[in-house]
Amino acid sequence: MVTTWRRETFGSRIGLVGIFDLVVFGGTGDLARRKILPALFKRFCAGQMPKPSRLIGAARTDMDTEAYRAFVRIAIKEFVDIPDGDDAALEAFLAQLEYVVLDARGDTGWATLQGMMAPDRVRAFYFSVGPGLFEDLACKLHQWNLTEDDSRIVVEKPFGRDLETAQELNAILAAHFHESQIYRIDHYLGKETVQNLMAVRFGNMLFEPLWNSQYIDHIQITVAETVGVAGRDVYYERAGAMRDMVQNHLMQLLCLIAMEPPAKFEPDAVRDEKLKVIRALDPVEPHHIVRGQYTSADGVASYREDVGNDRSKTESFMALKCHLSNWRWAGTPFYLRTGKRMEVRNSKITVVFKDAPHSIFGPEAGRHNNELTIVLQPNEGITLDVTIKEPGQGGMRLMDVPLDMSFAEALGEGSHAPDAYERLIMDVIRGNQTLFMRNDEVEAAWAWTDPLIRGWESRGDVPKPYDSFTTGPDGAAQLLRRDGREWRGLLS
Ligand code: NAP
Repeated sequence: MVTTWRRETFGSRIGLVGIFDLVVFGGTGDLARRKILPALFKRFCAGQMPKPSRLIGAARTDMDTEAYRAFVRIAIKEFVDIPDGDDAALEAFLAQLEYVVLDARGDTGWATLQGMMAPDRVRAFYFSVGPGLFEDLACKLHQWNLTEDDSRIVVEKPFGRDLETAQELNAILAAHFHESQIYRIDHYLGKETVQNLMAVRFGNMLFEPLWNSQYIDHIQITVAETVGVAGRDVYYERAGAMRDMVQNHLMQLLCLIAMEPPAKFEPDAVRDEKLKVIRALDPVEPHHIVRGQYTSADGVASYREDVGNDRSKTESFMALKCHLSNWRWAGTPFYLRTGKRMEVRNSKITVVFKDAPHSIFGPEAGRHNNELTIVLQPNEGITLDVTIKEPGQGGMRLMDVPLDMSFAEALGEGSHAPDAYERLIMDVIRGNQTLFMRNDEVEAAWAWTDPLIRGWESRGDVPKPYDSFTTGPDGAAQLLRRDGREWRGLLS
């Protein structure tokens, strides 16, 4: 997908960034092409890659720096919408790129990379390779003496596939790096709206006094995608929606919505509060878990066809009803839902407030409650539904109207919110870990997730089929209907 790019005045709105070298292991891979390189280019255009900072791509593919620059030129043109004829910025960016042929598992390239390292600048190493290479890279960086005390490593998801493997990986990284050097990336945390969630909660007097089970009926978190798993089938068949989305992205959103106010917006203060949320999560009852698998429709293949396994028990959809055992949230359910091949691509959080305790207008006026909706994609923004009088003569009937704060509208056409990777990569360079997961957070998330997975595996549960491009299996709707509630629409 091409992202819109707006030329920013060179050097404007600079959050101060010093000189850095960013080494991208896996610099020829899909993530580098689609996300990392375009993100860095946009930050370059914003003046945040001051000379002589460099991006050094590293992979096994045999090519020189000129060939790599040509490869990156094509990627940037594919994924960033650069106005015609405006290639000067791109060429200036490419001049700050280098490439090294390197094998994470062998000795090729490491001496060359060592020779390329320059003193007096931030060194960041992005592990944009399969998780099977994380240990090799950590050991090689150490063996070749490539890191300094303030060097950083960026580790992509998946971070383990259960508690045991996450602990092993944490131990491997900890053998070579201090926790303050490790940036476990979850790109959901870099989204503008996700951070706005904290601004809305903790920057306004309005919501926080109501932010508890006394006033909030329930909270829904939905991350729906229209794509299937084709192209990622091998990974996905081993992971499923629980490992791919719930254990990380949805859980992080749940943490931000449910956490206590941290004393300061500082890495450990925020992460301490998120950790407390994960640790307060109750085990989930089996009848509060709904798993589904998409079937074929409109000429697209079914999940089982996509993964080439006609007996697959991996879920491409998941809905859960969760509870937090703490003072703030006792009695307020959190409903989480995520799936592939849903009717639309939409990620949002809906906070449903309780009804007013008594209606002075009588039953004929109708009853309404407030809802705060935070949309993460596609159109980031926040809406508050408030109750007003239905216009017209005679009687008092109530209706809901949205107080809509679409960010593009509120902040003006020219506003450019950096995408998640832009922000997160710059946070790595600045040395700010607030939006990255700490070792104990990741392990606590797996400690909650593992028994749920083991539970359905030991019961031999098979995911329920659902039609592609719908809202998922019937059981997901039943999960809320049993409680007298409804999912908020994906289309609205
Ligand atoms: P990919 O397209 O398969 O790329 C893998 C990269 O690793 C290639 O550049 C490959 O280049 C390099 N590589 C493989 N073996 C190597 C070795 N022995 N030594 C050095 N380099 C080696 O994978 P990807 O999709 O970019 O994903 C990279 C990481 O990001 C994975 O951990 C994935 O789970 C995570 N991730 C990806 C996405 C996404 O949208 N793609 C999203 C979230 C997370 P050579 O073959 O030239 O060596």
